[in-house]
Amino acid sequence: MVGLFVLGIVMIYEAVIGLELHIQLATESKLFSSSSASFGAEVNTHVNEIDLGYPGVLPVLNERALEYAVLFGLALGSQINPNAFFMRKNYFYPDLPKGYQISQLADAIILGGLVDLPEFERQVRINRGQLEEDAGKSVHDAFTDRTGIDLNRAGVPLIELVSEPDMRSAAEAVAYMRKIHHLVRYLGISDGNMQEGSFRCDANVSIREKGSEVYNARVELKNINSFRFVEQAIELEIERQIDVVENGGTVEQETRLFDPDKMETRTMRSKEEANDYRYFPDPDLLPLQLSAEWIEQIRQNLPELPHLREQRYAEQYALDKDSLRFLVQDKATAQYFEEALNAGAEARTAAIWMQSELVKLLPEGQGFADCLLNPNQFAVLLARVADNTLSANAAKKLLPELWGNADISVDALIDTKGLRQVNDDGQLQQWAEEVLAANPDQVAAYKGGQVKMLGYLVGQVLKKSQGKANPKSVNELLQKLLA
Ligand code: ADP
Ligand code: MG
Repeated sequence: MVGLFVLGIVMIYEAVIGLELHIQLATESKLFSSSSASFGAEVNTHVNEIDLGYPGVLPVLNERALEYAVLFGLALGSQINPNAFFMRKNYFYPDLPKGYQISQLADAIILGGLVDLPEFERQVRINRGQLEEDAGKSVHDAFTDRTGIDLNRAGVPLIELVSEPDMRSAAEAVAYMRKIHHLVRYLGISDGNMQEGSFRCDANVSIREKGSEVYNARVELKNINSFRFVEQAIELEIERQIDVVENGGTVEQETRLFDPDKMETRTMRSKEEANDYRYFPDPDLLPLQLSAEWIEQIRQNLPELPHLREQRYAEQYALDKDSLRFLVQDKATAQYFEEALNAGAEARTAAIWMQSELVKLLPEGQGFADCLLNPNQFAVLLARVADNTLSANAAKKLLPELWGNADISVDALIDTKGLRQVNDDGQLQQWAEEVLAANPDQVAAYKGGQVKMLGYLVGQVLKKSQGKANPKSVNELLQKLLA
């Protein structure tokens, strides 16, 4: 909230923000054609006659994309529109070979719904979620004198999730966006990769006098591809609009671009009105007729939603906030955790090891769906640390050995590697006495008050034992011997 004195009157403004999120669905093929929808292929190799807009070809709806949209809508608590239909949004742009985008409007597949932001005591209403196709990409840096067009992305399925203008600060907008990002990844309907453009945001921003109910002209900030940039872009835009109004101007409805290098937003084009697009129902695609049974079947596949799972874990196990967040980041992580628990692992230890050790072994960019440590082996390994068979360090060394080798017995491996911890008092005593005898200077220093020498001596005993002595027992034993 920003206040400013004008002729002795304090004017207090509030921001009004609505987001349009473009969420790329993780389907194998495109929304209306069998071309691959995957990212990163050589330019113009994932294209066929439909993606290129050849005359006479007919689109066929990808059923998986429809399922994902319905799953998402159900998770948002929205209405699923059984008679949704597709519209043509007509415009000319080089990356749009058909001259129109197949999209949806008021008769979209997802209608209504609420996203709760408890930390702001705010509920954001969803207007609708449209199933639509993405456009291609202009490539500006491949040639010096021309712009290239890559149509691999043309026709890739998106959901455009349109919120009502219910957010009142940049921080609320980012919290909303994070929540949706988390949900789509958790449901597995999108990889949410922002660098690759799988999750993009257009932010609509206006300001008004605080307490007023009017909706003033809004500025649309296009395609902002990180959480930080969304926050910065909205904040800058709010300041700019206040400046305009304070200087006696009016905010124009327009589309602006955020420039993170210059830290400014600047005019891209004046905002078109919906009727500029000459929307009409696509005659090539029949309206949907979704049966209540089909929708119900998808509802059965809804996983326990992340916030409910987090609540349940918090009640069942003594886990800190960090671990809770980590465990419910996606379905696979939560499932792995639960499988380890079913195999007898203790919750807190399992969470900490997953968070600090197992993630290190996951290939770059992959999650627990790709974890190659069998959860049963994981549970046995943790049990052997708990019962002092194995030191934590030795257990960590075994992780790569067990990775991808589900048939190895953990106990057999501990023996083959000779890592069984020595807890035998007689043996420990002998090693300790040998170390004390061999290090008279350090012993004298310790007795003279240099307590940190103890660590050195413990280290020597561990070394002598080739890592097999139980560090805790050695520590206690040395303290006793030196007392
Ligand atoms: P468009 O075709 O212009 O993108 P949409 O209906 O897809 O229209 O999206 C409009 C977005 O603008 C919604 O997210 C809505 O919440 C937001 N919006 C509408 N009016 C305002 C306003 N006065 N200030 C801020 N945001 C607004
Ligand atoms: Mg829109």
